[in-house]
Amino acid sequence: MPDSLVINSHKGQYQAHFKNDLLRNVQPFLANEPHFIVDENVARIYGEQLSSIVNHPNTILVQPAEEFKSLDVVSKIIQRLVANKIRRNHTIVAIGGGITQDLACFTASTILRGVDWVFVPTTLLAQADSCIGSKSSINVGDSKNIVGTFYPPKEIWIDTIFLRTLHQDEIRSGIGEILKVHAIESSDEFDRAAKSFELMLTDFDVLEQFIHSALFIKKRFIEIDEFDAGIRNIFNLGHSFGHAIEAATMFAVPHGIAVSMGMHVASSVASARGLLQASHAERMKLVLAKNFSPYAAVQIEIQPMMAALMKDKKNSSSELGLILPIGERAEIQKIMIEPDAQFQQQLADSLSALR
Ligand code: ADP
Ligand code: ZN
Repeated sequence: MPDSLVINSHKGQYQAHFKNDLLRNVQPFLANEPHFIVDENVARIYGEQLSSIVNHPNTILVQPAEEFKSLDVVSKIIQRLVANKIRRNHTIVAIGGGITQDLACFTASTILRGVDWVFVPTTLLAQADSCIGSKSSINVGDSKNIVGTFYPPKEIWIDTIFLRTLHQDEIRSGIGEILKVHAIESSDEFDRAAKSFELMLTDFDVLEQFIHSALFIKKRFIEIDEFDAGIRNIFNLGHSFGHAIEAATMFAVPHGIAVSMGMHVASSVASARGLLQASHAERMKLVLAKNFSPYAAVQIEIQPMMAALMKDKKNSSSELGLILPIGERAEIQKIMIEPDAQFQQQLADSLSALR
C-alpha cells in the first residue's frame, strides 16, 4: 500500500499522505506562519498531544454543528484571521471533520482571494471521502450547501489514530461512503468491502486499507470531472434518497448511514422498475442493512421525502435525476424518472423494506 496519493486538480497537484505518528510529531505543522482552524471537540480530546497547536496564538476553534456551517461563522473566522494578520503567503491548517473542512476550505479559497491550506481529517467520512475532491459548501438560510467553492488543500495528512475516539455512528457513517465508492468501482469491489464489514468496525488496519482504496477509486473520477459536470455525478449514489431521508427525519439519521439507506432505496427502486436484477438488490441490501441497522426503526414519512427529492439539483423541470445501479453488472448510472404514483409506490415499498 503506497503511503501517499497524488491528485491532479485545476490548482495543480496535491497529495494525501497516510501517517501514523501525527500526534507524536506536530512540529511540521508549526512551520511557515500557520493559522489553525480546529474542531473544538478534537481540540479537547487531543488537548495534550496537540497542545502546541491548541495553545497557538493563531488558533481558531470551531463548533462542529450544521447550524454553524454558515456565512456568519465564516465572517467571524475571517475577522479573527485578519486580526491575526494573515498574509497571502501564510497557510491555514484545518483539523477536524467535514464541517471544519467546509469552513476552512471556503475561508481559504476566498480570504485575500485565496491562501494555501492543509487538511488533517479526523473523521472517517472526511478521511475516506470528502478530504479529496476540492469541494466546500456552506449553508445559507434554509438552503443547505447552497454556496461553495472548488479549492483543494495543498496537502492532506491522514492518521487513523484519530478514528479511535469516534462514536460508532460516525464510523458507520464513514463506512456508508466507503461502500458507496466501492459500489461505483464495481460489484466485485463492493462485495470485497461488504465481506470486511465487521472487520471495518473493529480493526483500524483494515479500515485504513479501505480508506486507501476509496480514495484511489475517487481520485480517478475527480481527475476526469473535478467540477462535477458529468461522470462525478455518480458519487451521488444513495445521496438523493439519503438527503431526503435526512430531511424527512429532521437529521436524526447520520449522513453516511442515511446514504446506506439511500443506496438500498436506489437498488430496490431500480429492481422494482426492471432496471436491476433482484439478486443484485438483495446482495447489496445484506451489508447496507447491517450498516444502517441502529437506525432501521426510524420513522420515515413519504411526503417530506418526496418534497426533498423534488428539490434535487440533478432533476430536470419535470423528472427526477436519480443515480441508480443498472443492468447485469449493477453499473452506477444517472437515470431520469417521472415522480408519478408508480414511483411513489416503489419508494414506499423500499422504505418499508428498510426494517
Ligand atoms: P463529518 O462531516 O466528517 O462526519 P463533522 O465535522 O460533522 O464530521 O463532525 C462530526 C462529529 O465528530 C463532531 O461532533 C466532531 O466534533 C466529532 N469529531 C471529529 N473528529 C473526531 C475524533 N477524532 N474523535 C471524536 N470526535 C470527533
Ligand atoms: Zn456523502
